[in-house]
Amino acid sequence: MATLRTPEGEQKYQDYIKAGGLDNGCPLCRDTARKTFTYWKIVSNDFPYDRVAGAHDMVVPLRHITEHELTAEELEELREIKHSYINDTYDYVIEAVYKKKSIPKHFHLHLVTLKE
Ligand SMILES: [Zn+2]
Repeated sequence: MATLRTPEGEQKYQDYIKAGGLDNGCPLCRDTARKTFTYWKIVSNDFPYDRVAGAHDMVVPLRHITEHELTAEELEELREIKHSYINDTYDYVIEAVYKKKSIPKHFHLHLVTLKE
């Protein structure tokens, strides 16, 4: 299966899932914020897309919600963050399609800076 992780990075992630890493509460709720906004936080990805990424963070709503549950205020702030902080800090915003999401119940976008 094609992945944005190297074989070693993907193996580490699969081992984490097999060990129950996603079963014990939501890791995105637990993750410490590198930066916090009114409705969103930026967190590091512990299993980066290391095939392409030098740096890999995620933008995550503070509430544990799906994309459909985002309010107009939350979406408006996301738009603002994309055009300011994210634009100034990263190269790409990557969103997995639904079937590829490993944490579909907590909306998140991947923020990637390409490796040199
Ligand atoms: Zn969550």
